[in-house]
Amino acid sequence: MLIVSEEACQAVVGRGDAFAAVESVFSAMASGDAYNFPVIREAIGHADALYGFKSGFDRAGLVLGLKSGGYWPGNMAKGLTNHQSTVFLFDPDTGQLHALVGGNYLTAIRTAAASSVSIAHLARKDAKVLGMVGAGHQAGFQLRAAAEQRDFEKVVAWNFHPDMLPNLGAVAEEMGLPFEAVEREQLGAEADVIISITSAHDPLMMKDWVKPGTHLACMGTDTKGKQEVDPALVAAATVFTDEIAQSTTIGEAQHAISKRLISEADITSIGDVINGTHPGRSSDAEITLFDGTGVGLQDLAVASVAARLAEEGGKAQQIQL
Ligand code: NAD
Repeated sequence: MLIVSEEACQAVVGRGDAFAAVESVFSAMASGDAYNFPVIREAIGHADALYGFKSGFDRAGLVLGLKSGGYWPGNMAKGLTNHQSTVFLFDPDTGQLHALVGGNYLTAIRTAAASSVSIAHLARKDAKVLGMVGAGHQAGFQLRAAAEQRDFEKVVAWNFHPDMLPNLGAVAEEMGLPFEAVEREQLGAEADVIISITSAHDPLMMKDWVKPGTHLACMGTDTKGKQEVDPALVAAATVFTDEIAQSTTIGEAQHAISKRLISEADITSIGDVINGTHPGRSSDAEITLFDGTGVGLQDLAVASVAARLAEEGGKAQQIQL
């Protein structure tokens, strides 16, 4: 059995690997070759923690496993990140444990890969301004991955806690992009692609602020009750998602669905666009919105790449159970 540390994951898995793994598993999900099992998420009544696991099987890629972990709000004070996770991969032929893989870096890189897959397939080719709503731990990963998808000339950003913006500005600078902190209305007026990655529970971007032709990747809403954009904006957009069942219940679309502004039939799996069974964007004026809810199969896909590359590069520990 292999043990692949956080450090090894960071050393071996790059943005290109994560993009390819996530794009491929979205494709397999849409064609019915890969499926996620029901998610378990519980408040454990200790350390204020939310704990759970996400599991699934990709029959096309032969990846079986689960990601276990959750959110421990007191961790920051201990010098640890609040989100903690570990991926377990099993041999689909025998059920034997194949690898234990650190899941924290992989969560960030697979989440960024999901929005960048959506940008690659849905954003206008001539997109020039990237708008970032959010500046927390995930935001830098999101910005780096998005910056590689189009010839962006500028980043405009807003955050609920403005003191966090300079960190994101430093990432933009590292990517060679001018960075400007702006109000949300201006962000909507300027941005061709908008990524939202916050823990908000109220709409941050309103329908009338967003230009025709914008692509939005709403990545923060992954739980019932969270919300980043105006339900009227979701209703005005053509909506794509990683998994429809999650989009309607725990994703950004949950609010437009509960207000009956859209129905499940209005939401398309991004895998259908990847597979060519849905045309994706149909005009330069269309607003497209990717509801990135985060599925276990994304974690398993990148963990499987991490295990393979770490083993090949001599960066995985081998042990007998
Ligand atoms: P973080 O704690 O590092 O950052 C939180 C961000 O939300 C910051 O930008 C903060 O300023 C902002 N924020 C906090 N309270 C807010 C409020 N009331 N209104 C508006 N903004 C507010 O968290 P992170 O690790 O960057 O994660 C951001 C979000 O993304 C979380 O909600 C997390 O659950 C979600 N997430 C989703 C996926 C997915 O696959 N879709 C994966 C990982 C994380």
